[in-house]
Amino acid sequence: MFEKILIANRGEIALRIQRACREMGIKTVVVHSEADREAKYVKLADESVCIGPAPSALSYLNMPAIISAAEVTDAEAIHPGYGFLSENADFAERVEKSGFVFIGPRPESIRLMGDKVSAKHAMIKAGVPCVPGSDGALPEDPKEIIRIARKVGYPVIIKAAGGGGGRGMRVVHTEAALLNAVTMTKTEAGAAFGNPEVYMEKYLENPRHVEIQILADEFKNAIWLGERDCSMQRRHQKVIEEAPAPGIPRKLIERIGDRCAEACRKIGYRGAGTFEFLYENGEFYFIEMNTRIQVEHPVTEMITGVDLVQEQIRVAAGEKLRFRQRDIELSGHAIECRINAEDPFKFTPSPGRIVAWHAPGGPGIRVDSHAYAGYFVPPTYDSMVGKVIAYGATREQAIRRMQIALSEMVVEGIQTNIPLHRELMVDARFFEGGTNIHYLEQKLAAKPDLPKALAKGAK
Ligand code: ADP
Repeated sequence: MFEKILIANRGEIALRIQRACREMGIKTVVVHSEADREAKYVKLADESVCIGPAPSALSYLNMPAIISAAEVTDAEAIHPGYGFLSENADFAERVEKSGFVFIGPRPESIRLMGDKVSAKHAMIKAGVPCVPGSDGALPEDPKEIIRIARKVGYPVIIKAAGGGGGRGMRVVHTEAALLNAVTMTKTEAGAAFGNPEVYMEKYLENPRHVEIQILADEFKNAIWLGERDCSMQRRHQKVIEEAPAPGIPRKLIERIGDRCAEACRKIGYRGAGTFEFLYENGEFYFIEMNTRIQVEHPVTEMITGVDLVQEQIRVAAGEKLRFRQRDIELSGHAIECRINAEDPFKFTPSPGRIVAWHAPGGPGIRVDSHAYAGYFVPPTYDSMVGKVIAYGATREQAIRRMQIALSEMVVEGIQTNIPLHRELMVDARFFEGGTNIHYLEQKLAAKPDLPKALAKGAK
């Protein structure tokens, strides 16, 4: 096992990885930007190295600075967390070439799955069902594009091959809007992801987002650890996640889970990963794979009892998976609310100093957050300041516990989306379970007075 790991990330996930390392008796090095110098988790690490100024491009995306930090501290492995360099195959390659272990899949797997077009090809080959669409990237010829769209059938969605974070997508309802949408998505994709390639999918009108967590070692052992329902989204970004997914027959989920594990064996995948699907009318359609730990991993940990970050570290160190498929038993229900520093009415970021912070607790409550009273939320990064996870023997108990947790939670000095979560936890449709990916936006649009109601409930 490693003696020392460098954590190439920030915020709650840096703290989460640090906790896993400490439990395993592994020393930690945290790299940080100038903006994160004062953060408590930085001080809690065995060592810390400042790798540059606040902008990510100069710090958390600065490959040479991160690798030098590993060299000077004698770390043996680098954990990339999520976001930043976690799905950058070139970084994984540079890490390995410099003599360190990248805690994640091999660079070839990251490259294969990082390009959504090649990922879909690989999945079709592995027998995983995909959303119908173009066979690969869209060609230049406008006539061909029109022909493909007719074949797929409107509405269609144009997606960037290199897209991520809910960006680089455009829904097209009519042929008249098609070519313009393709050109615009290409331009945006080129600027945002450095890859102008786009592809087309059938736009599913009312799907749910259901994903499968997998773990694999380098000896071609692969298992799946249940599913997560991440349908509560705003602008294609997840707001609430839960496990298991309510109301989907277990047989269907087992079938797709087994396919995912099989696909991992076929592509020689190592590490933790997530197969994302849209689920509609009893069918699963693969949309993409994330080759890293995800924000929502705790809900899976709560219902399986498996520490996914520790297992990532173990398989990266060359150990065999400690679990077989039959060892994975799902028990109870878990829900996660992402707590964002943002205006709950306009959804604009609300950085600044947190003057009061009270995290909830009690049976079944887990809070993953690097924030505290006095912590300054920098304007430079993602607005998420933590996650509240509630576990219960049943979904109803998990919701009840989440309601109590959110009522106890106090964050002052910045605005957060806690009022929105409070509202959603008493929403009748959410309580029933199985809402689709449009539910939250429809609810926000249908209730223009919601902001005022939220304001009253807001602390
Ligand atoms: P990203 O990598 O940016 O997260 P994804 O391909 O995972 O992009 O899609 C993110 C979200 O966009 C999905 O959860 C879903 O809400 C929506 N979406 C993506 N593809 C489709 C589709 N073919 N039909 C309907 N919605 C889609």
